[in-house]
Amino acid sequence: MIATRRGATDSTPGSRSTVVEPARGAGGPILAVRNLEVVYQDVVLVLRGVSLEVPQGEIVALLGANGAGKTTLLRAVTGLLGVHRGRVTKGSVELEGRRLSGENAASIVRRGVAQVMEGRRIFAELTVEENLRAGGFTRTRAEVRESHDRVLDLFPVLAERRRSTAGYLSGGEQQMLAIARALMAEPRVLLLDEPSLGLAPRLVEQVRDTISELNRQGVSVLLVEQNAAMALAIASHGYVMETGRVVKDGPSAELLADQDIQEFYLGVGETGRRSFRDVKSYRRRKRWSG
Ligand code: ATP
Repeated sequence: MIATRRGATDSTPGSRSTVVEPARGAGGPILAVRNLEVVYQDVVLVLRGVSLEVPQGEIVALLGANGAGKTTLLRAVTGLLGVHRGRVTKGSVELEGRRLSGENAASIVRRGVAQVMEGRRIFAELTVEENLRAGGFTRTRAEVRESHDRVLDLFPVLAERRRSTAGYLSGGEQQMLAIARALMAEPRVLLLDEPSLGLAPRLVEQVRDTISELNRQGVSVLLVEQNAAMALAIASHGYVMETGRVVKDGPSAELLADQDIQEFYLGVGETGRRSFRDVKSYRRRKRWSG
């Protein structure tokens, strides 16, 4: 069941958008980010009160231009901020209502959250098999064997190439391997950071179909993408981030029909704006002058 959201008007200057209030649908969201603030190196404030939710069993898209803070948000969820000299200074992350923030990365994986990082970070020198086994590092041997068979059923192309060195796989196969490796942890929530980046259109479709299939099998997904058309095609809900804040959110169908999103993210009626906010202020100026 899709959890409903109630929007409240954002008072941020230059923003007419809605911010999210916690959805209280049946059982609540599987993943909730509440009013999160993140600072790097004790001085660089990058997330400024971000809230978002992934309802159980759904795909949620997170859109935003370069530098908006999407990867930082994922790092905060998976406990990897410390590696980058960042920390949460306010707010929290919850999995099924229980706090995740403060736990270390391995324990977050054990609790059922796995991430596929941007840029297909596979172990290029290892074989496909070895990469998969590495993905099961938090689990017992028997569990790894079981997941291994299940994951290879899902990715026949990897089954064929299980003894190949991962670095020799094509870009699309490497992305599949990165996803497959994350699945070896048997996550209930999968975070994907720009899985379509740099892939040919046919492979983007393959990645999209794979994400849909995983979701059908019960995995909830937070999908960070610049390819808004692809992400909103499979997500039930989307959020747009800019300079460390959520500036808009809504059901995917609504976002796809939104004129600002169409201009900046879907390339419809191009005006050459450099940011989502530019598109909006351009439109306001047009209205005022015209
Ligand atoms: P991209 O798609 O380019 O990765 P993004 O939306 O994922 O963009 P982040 O990578 O989260 O954005 O970066 C948000 C901001 O935080 C940027 O201004 C970036 O320069 C800054 N930033 C990221 N990592 C660090 C770090 N380790 N130390 C200092 N600043 C950082």
